[in-house]
Amino acid sequence: MSPRRKTRQVTVGDDRVGRVRIGGDAPIAVQTMTAGYTHEIDACVREIERYAAAGADIVRVAVPERKDTEALHEILGQVSVPVVADVHFHFQRALEAVEAGVHKIRLNPGNISDRDQVNKVIDACKERGIPIRIGVNEGSIIERKDKLKRAEELGKFFAGHKSGHMLALMIAKLEEYLDIFEARDFHDVTISAKSMDASMVIDVYTEISKRFDYPLHLGVTHAGPRDTGAIRSIAALSTLVANGIGDTLRISYASDHIDEVKDGLELLYCLGKRERKGVELIACPTCGRIQVDLFTLVKEVEKKLMPELKLPIKVAVMGCVVNGPGEAEGADVAVFAGDRRGIIYVQGQRVANVPEAEILDRLLQECREFEAKVNRGEAKLGEKVVEIVPPAPIGELGSGMDKIRAGLVEQITIGKTS
Ligand code: SF4
Repeated sequence: MSPRRKTRQVTVGDDRVGRVRIGGDAPIAVQTMTAGYTHEIDACVREIERYAAAGADIVRVAVPERKDTEALHEILGQVSVPVVADVHFHFQRALEAVEAGVHKIRLNPGNISDRDQVNKVIDACKERGIPIRIGVNEGSIIERKDKLKRAEELGKFFAGHKSGHMLALMIAKLEEYLDIFEARDFHDVTISAKSMDASMVIDVYTEISKRFDYPLHLGVTHAGPRDTGAIRSIAALSTLVANGIGDTLRISYASDHIDEVKDGLELLYCLGKRERKGVELIACPTCGRIQVDLFTLVKEVEKKLMPELKLPIKVAVMGCVVNGPGEAEGADVAVFAGDRRGIIYVQGQRVANVPEAEILDRLLQECREFEAKVNRGEAKLGEKVVEIVPPAPIGELGSGMDKIRAGLVEQITIGKTS
C-alpha cells in the first residue's frame, strides 16, 4: 500500500447537513447518485435519505430541467447529507442549483465549454463557497471542434500506451478547463475522469494524480449490473486507492444504488481506509466436508446481525474444524460446525456446543451479549482472550452435502430452536 497522495482539500455541506471534507487528510468519502427524478420531491428525499442511512457521505442528483432545480429548494431542507447537482449542457441549471443552496456542482467539460458560461458558474460558486467537480467522461470528452492540437502533442507522449489517444484527450481537456478556473483564482475544485474500461481508469487517474493536486473523485462509469460491475469497479478503484490515489469515490451500478454505497464502503474497509461500522462477517466458502447448510446460516446471520449490531464485531461462520479454529481465533465471535452441531467461541473461549437447529439463535445471542459487554467496557474488540484448541472432528468429515441431500443430516431450520 502506498501512502496517500497529498492534495488540496474542499469542503462540501453546510451547518444543517454537516460538512464533508474531500482530499487532504480527510477519510475517503463515499458517494452515490439518485436514480429517480429530482422534481419528484418526496421520492427524491426518500431516496437520498435511504443512501444516507446506508452510509453515503454525499448524494448527487440530476438536474436536467428547471423543475429539478426548483425542487432543490424543498429537497435541501429535508435531507441529512450534502447534495451535489449534476449539470450537463445547460449552465443555467448550475446557477439555479447554486441559488437553491446546493452544496456542490458537477460540470462536464464535454458539454459545457463556453468560457463565459463557465465563468458565470465559477463566480456564483465562489460567492457562496460552493465547490465544483470537473467531471470528464470518456463518452462525452470529444468535443470534435478543436483542442486536438494539444491532444496530439500529448498523444505523442502517450504513444504506445493502450489507451494513449483517449488519455491524451482527457488530460488536454482537463488542463484547458482548469485554466478557466485558475484564471478566476478558483481552486475549490475536485476532478474526475471516468471510463467504463477499468485499466483506462487506472491509467488516467494515475496520470492525473501526477499532474494536478486537486482532490480526485474516482469512478468507473457505466460499469453495468452489480454482478459484473462490482468486479470492473473494484479492480480499478482498489488498485488506485491502494496506490494512494483517490479522495472520494462512486461505484456505479445499473441496479439498486444502495449497493454502490455498501460496496464503496466495503472496499474502503477492506483496504483499511475507513473505520468499519457494523459487523464484519467472515465465512468459509464450504467444501465437500461441510455438514450443515452453511450458506443459509450465513445469509441469516448477515440479515439479522448487520442491521442490529452497531460495533465492528468480527463474526466468523466456518463449516468444519479444518480451518475453523484458525479463522475463529481472529474473530470476536465464531462458530464452526460439525456433524449436526455448532461449537461457538467468544474471543477464543468456547461458550456453547449446540445442535444445528440452535446455531443461529445462539450465535445471535452471543453476538448481542458480546456487544453489550464491549459497550459496558468489559471486553475489547479484536482481543483474543484464549487460544483455541481444535476439537477432534465431530462425526465423519467429508461428503457432507451428500448427507444433506440424502436427508441424513437435518438442514438448519432458520429462526427456530429445538
Ligand atoms: S472450513 Fe471446513 S467446510 Fe469450510 S471450506 Fe474449510 S474445510 Fe471446507
